Amino acid sequence: MQGSPIDPKWETISRDELLAVQEERLKGLLKRAEEKIPFYRRLWKKEGFSPDDVKGLGDIGKVPFTTKQDIAESIRLFPPFGDYQGDFHAIRVQSSTGSTGKPKAIFHTRNDWENIGDLWARRLRVQGVGPTDIVQISFAYTLFIVGFTSTEGVMKLGSLAVPTGSGAVTPSERQLQIAHDWGTTVIGCTGSYMLHLAEVAREMGLDPRKHFNIRVSFHTAEPLTEKMRAEIEDTWGCKAYNNWGSVETGAPTWECPEQKGLHLNEDAYIFEVIDYKTGIPVPDGEEGELVVTTLLKEAAPLIRYRIGDITALMKERCACGRTLNRMTAVHGRVDDMIKVKGVAIYPTDFEPSIKKFGVFGGEYLIKVWNEGHRELVKVLVEFLGEDGDRAKWCEELTKDLHGALGLRSEVEALPKGGVKALVGTETRTKYKRIMDLRKK
Ligand SMILES: [Zn+2]
Repeated sequence: MQGSPIDPKWETISRDELLAVQEERLKGLLKRAEEKIPFYRRLWKKEGFSPDDVKGLGDIGKVPFTTKQDIAESIRLFPPFGDYQGDFHAIRVQSSTGSTGKPKAIFHTRNDWENIGDLWARRLRVQGVGPTDIVQISFAYTLFIVGFTSTEGVMKLGSLAVPTGSGAVTPSERQLQIAHDWGTTVIGCTGSYMLHLAEVAREMGLDPRKHFNIRVSFHTAEPLTEKMRAEIEDTWGCKAYNNWGSVETGAPTWECPEQKGLHLNEDAYIFEVIDYKTGIPVPDGEEGELVVTTLLKEAAPLIRYRIGDITALMKERCACGRTLNRMTAVHGRVDDMIKVKGVAIYPTDFEPSIKKFGVFGGEYLIKVWNEGHRELVKVLVEFLGEDGDRAKWCEELTKDLHGALGLRSEVEALPKGGVKALVGTETRTKYKRIMDLRKK
């Protein structure tokens, strides 16, 4: 079965048919990589692997993993782009923001670009976006991919794209003015920026629910916690959707209106979840490190790439009726996980406590440093309550965090906007919530 990813037939394809498509596409990808990509030839030779070893989907475990270190090594050996791009005619390069190490260049052929746009259209169509919508895209238009590819998806659906870009190029007041005056019905941006826009709207004397017409907001690039989603939906009176992806993968997952996990574009990708220590697949429903294979990508495809995000596969059928499997929302990356005083923590673990009291803003920054052998943690939050109560609430939060995380931390409350300025809510494309200043 062939056909463009934009075709809705893929969403309800039978599992048998889907597995046959995956198998055919996997074999095609391995063959393509062997012929045209020196990077894979090199790695596979070292591991004694040949694409002929894969007779069917069940043999995918024989294909060696690739890692961020392999890519970094490729760039070091073959600067500036590495030898993982392959012998394809690329028309465009985008780059990851490099949460670890140097930015990675990812080449795209014309087909690659079309496919990612189609997959974005699939996401947004499922999330209720259609030809009558006015879609404001407040993601950054930069080497980071999402601004451009989401715009492609919007245009493929016949909606009207309003490419305002992030707050760094179109300040928030102006974003809101446009949304108000032009009647924006859908906004795409990070979840934290969506909440920031609501605050700015109120400062302008506008009520996000009353004075705007936003039905849908779609988010990616940073984890959207359930607390954050609830706040966005409540504030704007819209449906807020989570989408997970990255520059290397394109547009691999999306939420449906059930909002219970992210559906996987299994016609275009293979997803596995492994124990990040042993590399062995974990049972369905258990958390582990996500491994992605991009079946359709021509230039710079990922083949069993250990992307570092932590998730779990959900194989039970979704109530929406779609047959594509799902995964749980990514709440952290292997890289984001830090061990403090022997406790493994993710930045999002701090969020429920911070939001619970209703006196702290949504932004926070966790500082970790050491004094001798002692590891110290400070959580910087924004205090929005009455000034006289500040110390009391900080103490409450300290207690709550200790109870929730089993970790003692100091809480410092900055005035409104204080943390935002530190983490760069307006200008960032990816979130940064942990500052690890420990001397190694
Ligand atoms: Zn669903």
